[in-house]
Amino acid sequence: MASEFELIRTHFADLGAPRSDVTLGVGDDCALLAPPPGQRLAVSIDTLVCGSHFLPEVDPETLGHKSLAVGLSDLAAMGAEPAWATLALTLPGDLATGSAPWVAAFARGFGTLARTHGVRLVGGDTTRGPLSVTVQVHGFVPDGMEVRRSGSRPGDLICLSGTLGDAGLALRELAAGRAPDALLRARLDRPTPRVDLGLALRGLATAMIDVSDGLAADLGHILESSRVGAELALGSLPLSGWVAQALEQGADWTLPLASGDDYELCFCLPAQQVAALAGLAERSGCPLAVIGHIRSGQGLVCLGPDGQALNLARTGFDHFRAADV
Ligand code: ADP
Ligand code: MG
Repeated sequence: MASEFELIRTHFADLGAPRSDVTLGVGDDCALLAPPPGQRLAVSIDTLVCGSHFLPEVDPETLGHKSLAVGLSDLAAMGAEPAWATLALTLPGDLATGSAPWVAAFARGFGTLARTHGVRLVGGDTTRGPLSVTVQVHGFVPDGMEVRRSGSRPGDLICLSGTLGDAGLALRELAAGRAPDALLRARLDRPTPRVDLGLALRGLATAMIDVSDGLAADLGHILESSRVGAELALGSLPLSGWVAQALEQGADWTLPLASGDDYELCFCLPAQQVAALAGLAERSGCPLAVIGHIRSGQGLVCLGPDGQALNLARTGFDHFRAADV
C-alpha cells in the first residue's frame, strides 16, 4: 500500500495551474497564500459522500471533476474569480493500494478542471475510512462587487443559464436501470461551472445563486434573502430535448423545477438591462433565458404554458407553500 506521503507527493503535490500568489503550496504544515490587495476572499466548502452524493462504482476521474466543479459553481454564483483549492480525501484502503490508479484518475479529473480555471491545489488532508471528498475553494472578488442572494427588487427579471432538469433526468434513468444518452449523463457527471458568466454578471446582477438543489428551492433562497416574491413562466424554462420529451411523456414539472445537480446560474437583472443578455450569453458562451420576474410580497407563483397558475404546493416542495395560488 502506498504511504499517505507517497500518495500526496505523487498525485497532489503539483496539481492545477501554477500561480504566483501561492508562496508555499502542498508539503508544509500550512500553505502560504497572497490574496490581491483590495479584493475579498470568497470561500466555499462542499463534501461529497459515497452513497449519498455519488455511487460507489463512480468513475474516479468524473468524481475528481465534479468535486471541484460544485465549488467553482459557488464561486461563480458570487461573481468570484477562482484561485485556490484544498482537498480533504477519505479513502478506503483498497483505493490507495499499489500505484493507486483510482487516486491517479481522481487527480486527473480534478487537475484538468483546475487548470481550465487557473486554480491551484494548495493543500489538504488524506485519511483512511469510508470514501468521501471535501473540497474548499477560494476566489477573489473586488470589494463591493460580489453578487449576493439578497439584492433582488420587484420588477427585476429572473434569468437562467443553460437548461434545467438534465442531471435529474439522467439520475432517474439510471435509477430505472436504463443507460441515459452519453451527453445527458455528462450533464449529471461533469457539470460545467458557469465561471465566466458569474464574472460577467458582477455589477449587473442584483442577486444570484447556483442551482444545485433545484430551481424552486434555490430561487426560494433568493426570494427569502431579498424579501420578495416571484412569478415564473414555466413555458419559458429552457429545456433540453431530453427533458422536453420527458415532459411530453408524462413527467411532471418537478423534473425541471425540483431535481438537483443542474449547476446553472439563476440571477436577477433590472428590467432595463435586458438588452445586455445577448452580449452576456455571447461572452460567457452559454445560453441565457428570461424565465420570470420578481414582485413584491412573498412566495413563488408558477404560471403554466396556458397562463394558468399551477398549484405546485401539492407536489410537496417547501418553497411552493408560501405561494398565493
Ligand atoms: P499534517 O500532519 O500537518 O496535517 P499532512 O501529512 O496531513 O500534514 O499533509 C502534509 C502536506 O500535504 C500538507 O501540506 C497538506 O496540506 C498536504 N496534503 C495532504 N493531503 C492532501 C490532499 N489530499 N491534497 C492536497 N494536499 C494534501
Ligand atoms: Mg493532515
